[in-house]
Amino acid sequence: MYFECLLPSQLGKMIGRKCVPQTYSEWAFSSLFFGLRISPYLVTRFYASSKKQRIEWQFLNFMQNIIGQQRTKEFLTSLAASERVPHALLFLSKTGGGGLALATAFAQLLQCEKISSISQSLNFQACGECSACRKASQFTHPDIHFSFPTIGTNAVSTDFLKEWRSFLSETPFADVNTWLQRLGADNKQGNINKEECNAILKKLSLKAFEGRYKILLMWLPEYLGKEGNRLLKLIEEPPEQTIFLLVAENQDLILSTILSRCQLVKLDPLSDEDVTDGLVQERGISLERARQIAFLSGGDYGAALAAADAPVTDDAQLLLDWLRKCWRGHAVEMVRWTEEFAKLGRENQKQFLHYGLHFLREMLSLVSTGSPTMRLRPEELATAQNMAKVLDFEKIAQIVGLLNDNIYYIERNANPKILFLDTSIKMHQIMKTKNKQ
Ligand SMILES: [Zn+2]
Repeated sequence: MYFECLLPSQLGKMIGRKCVPQTYSEWAFSSLFFGLRISPYLVTRFYASSKKQRIEWQFLNFMQNIIGQQRTKEFLTSLAASERVPHALLFLSKTGGGGLALATAFAQLLQCEKISSISQSLNFQACGECSACRKASQFTHPDIHFSFPTIGTNAVSTDFLKEWRSFLSETPFADVNTWLQRLGADNKQGNINKEECNAILKKLSLKAFEGRYKILLMWLPEYLGKEGNRLLKLIEEPPEQTIFLLVAENQDLILSTILSRCQLVKLDPLSDEDVTDGLVQERGISLERARQIAFLSGGDYGAALAAADAPVTDDAQLLLDWLRKCWRGHAVEMVRWTEEFAKLGRENQKQFLHYGLHFLREMLSLVSTGSPTMRLRPEELATAQNMAKVLDFEKIAQIVGLLNDNIYYIERNANPKILFLDTSIKMHQIMKTKNKQ
């Protein structure tokens, strides 16, 4: 049999999706057997093994491999099937919500050369086999142009295509900060500048090389300054078969002139269940750990994946230890703690801070209502009850503020030793001021 070519997660995915064949040839082959009511899964496997060829599942950029977003996927596939795709679509999703992944898969679907053959099928999808699909899934299709925030006054997206392709293939759910840090941004702001707008005008003035459409996929139009107005005419009256796919996270930061020219595709927030399933399938971690990470990620799948990839740390123990040391205010102890903490790495530090915020929010509710919450484990609850004896509502709120600031600084590559020593001293000062009655 051919099972050895399937990773367990993919096998699960196929079974979970009622054994949907994943390529056009599989469809064509399995549809021959539909009348006989033979499972498409078995037929597909037989077909694959008869070809004695390994199918590169992970390589293909299929919409159905993206977690959640069922409603939007159905909408997009029906748009592609109708062949009446609006010339400007604005995908709006929360950070890590999948807007970029979905828009990229949609671009592939539009360019797929075999798509019309299966347009009547409910499982309308890119074939994954044609030359357009292969190029699109490697982000090298000559008629899918990408535009995204970069660093430097005259920088344009094409200067960073190599980095962009590896970013898309490794972490299409990551946030803009993760992207900018890859470009060595440190504290510099990203932007989509005048040069980039001119480059877009030039690219789209050319005829399509080989695709059915000329697509411009812009990630985060929020980073377009007033220069973005240069694109207005193009978005309003684009050349034939030209499509703009804009992927945004914050509607309020987009130029209203651009916003008004786009059809909005609003993605649903990812549920904890979507994120948990995705983590178990993609990272193979335990259900319990996946649930815990999903709960803290708040629907940000990029952050959840980063947390799953980081080595496991016992955040609860670490937080308790830190709070005790801050309470005592012993300088040598605090320095030692921050030195050890600095070794954990940025992702772990961020995850720890998110955990700290979750714990403190639960504590705030404990202090204000007096009743224990369901979201803390028994040992965490005992710590919270002890701390609630010495920290009042206002002090906890101040510590929450400190941790929130630290997430911001850690994301911008602050030195963790200096940052956390400073925070430890501030925490000590907050803890030791007199409680307000
Ligand atoms: Zn194709």
